[in-house]
Amino acid sequence: MSTNTPLYQQYPLHITNTLTATKQLFTPIKPPFVGLYVCGPTVYSDVHLGNVSTFTKFDFIYRYLVFLGYKVRYVRNITDVGHLVGDIDEGEDKIAKKARLEQLEPMEVVQRYTNGFHNVMKQFNNIEPSIEPTATGHILEQIEWVQKIIDNGFAYEVNGSVYFDVPKYDAAHPYGELSGRKIDELRNATRELDGQSDKRSPLDFAIWKKAEPQHIMRWNSPWGEGFPGWHLECSVMSTKYLGETFDIHGGGMDLKFPHHESEIAQAVACCGSAPVNYWMHTNMLTVNGTKMSKSLNNSFLPHELFAGDHELLEKGYSPMTVRFFFALSHYSSQVDFSNEALQGAEKGYKRLMNAQEALASLSHKQGALNEILEAEIQQHCKDVLSHLSDDFNTPRAIASLFSLCTKINDFKAGNADVGGISNSTFEQLQFTFNGVINDVLGLQSEAQQSNHLDDVMALVIELRKQARADKNWAMSDQIRDQLTAAGIQLKDEKGGLTTYSLD
Ligand SMILES: [Zn+2]
Repeated sequence: MSTNTPLYQQYPLHITNTLTATKQLFTPIKPPFVGLYVCGPTVYSDVHLGNVSTFTKFDFIYRYLVFLGYKVRYVRNITDVGHLVGDIDEGEDKIAKKARLEQLEPMEVVQRYTNGFHNVMKQFNNIEPSIEPTATGHILEQIEWVQKIIDNGFAYEVNGSVYFDVPKYDAAHPYGELSGRKIDELRNATRELDGQSDKRSPLDFAIWKKAEPQHIMRWNSPWGEGFPGWHLECSVMSTKYLGETFDIHGGGMDLKFPHHESEIAQAVACCGSAPVNYWMHTNMLTVNGTKMSKSLNNSFLPHELFAGDHELLEKGYSPMTVRFFFALSHYSSQVDFSNEALQGAEKGYKRLMNAQEALASLSHKQGALNEILEAEIQQHCKDVLSHLSDDFNTPRAIASLFSLCTKINDFKAGNADVGGISNSTFEQLQFTFNGVINDVLGLQSEAQQSNHLDDVMALVIELRKQARADKNWAMSDQIRDQLTAAGIQLKDEKGGLTTYSLD
C-alpha cells in the first residue's frame, strides 16, 4: 500500500460496541472526521485515581484515533450542576453541598476542583479535549430540550419539576438497550413510590427539578425556578457539538445505567434518532482486589501516590509509571492496583525509555541485508499497530514493543548489526516505536525534567536548613509557604532529611 494511504485504511480499527456487545469495524459517519464524547468529572472534590484511570484510558483511545489519521473532535464535559448526592433524583446537589459545607460560592467550588482536575490531567500527560463544555453554560439549551421532550409526549410536569416518562417511552422504543435491562425487571427491582413523589412511575427520572427555597443553584424556566437533571446535560452538549448522531460516546462502566441509558432515551424522545453509533465503557480500578472506596481507606489521591504517602503504598510512583500501568491492561478489563504491579510497571516503563534512548543513539548505514532480522522487525512493527487497531489492545501492543526493545538493545550492544536491516525498515522502526510510545501511549521521559527540579530543590532545601540553623524562622516559613503555593510540599523526615513532593 502506498505511504500516502492513511493509517486507518492500512490498519482498520475495530471497536467493541457496548450497545451491541460485539466487536465491529469502526466506520465513522464522515471520515476522516470523528466525533468523540466522554462524560467528564463532577467537580466537587479532588479527582481520585479511579477518575484518572478512566480519563487516561480515553486519552489512549483519543490519541490512537488521531495517530491513525482521523480528525477528532473530542468533547469532554464538566458537570457543575445537577449531579445529586443520591446519584439519581434524591439528595442535595453535590456541588451545592460542598459549597454549603465550605461556605463558598458554588462557582468557587467548581473553579477550584476544575483547576485541580486540569493539573492532574497535565501531570498524567492527558491531552485536553477540543471542547470542554459545562452544564451551567448550557442551561438554555437544556430548557429547550425539556420543552421538546414534553411536546413530543415523553415527559410531564408536576409541581415545578419535569419527569421523563419511561413506561411511555418504552411503549414506543425499547428502553434498556444499552444496559440490557428490561423494563419489567427494572420495575420489580425498584421501590414503590412512597406517595410523596410526584413521579407517575418509579422508573421515571427528573429532567428538570424544582429548586427548593434553600437551593442556591437555580435558573428561571417555563416551569418555575429550578435546575436541570444530571442526565440531560450530556445529551444536550454532545449533540450540540457533535451532531444529533455522532460516532463514539464513552465513559466509565458505572455510567452505563442509568446515565447513558437515559441519554439515549432523551435523545430519541427529543430528536427522534439514536444519538451514538459506538458506545465504549472502561472498566473499574480496584486496589489489592477490592473496589476503591473512601470508607475502606484504599482510595488514593494522585499526590499521595506520587509521594508514597499512604499506608498501602510501599513507595511513591511517578505519573508516567502509573500511566504505563494503566496501559498494561485492556480498557475493558478491571485494573488491580498493587505495589507489585506498580513496581513491575516501573521496570517496564524504564525498559521502554532506555530502548528509546538506545534507538536515538543508533545511526543506520545499510550493509549486507539480514533477511530474517528485516522480516522480524517489520512483523513486530505491524503487530504493534494491528493490536492497537484491534479494539485499542494496549497490553498486546506493549508486548510487541518489548519485542522491538530486544532488537534495539541487540543493536546497541553490538549483538546484531543495525546495517542488516534496510533503511525503510529502520525508518518504520523509528516511526512505530517512537510514535506509539510518545504519541499513542503518551509516555515521556521524566528523567531530565525531574533531574532539573531535583537540583533546584536540593538547593532550596539546603537554604531552608541554613535558615533554620540560624533560627531565621520567618525565612524558613516563607520558603515552605511559597513552595506550597507553587504546589510543592516539603516533608521533614526523621533524621533531619527533607524530601519534597508535587501536588
Ligand atoms: Zn455524561
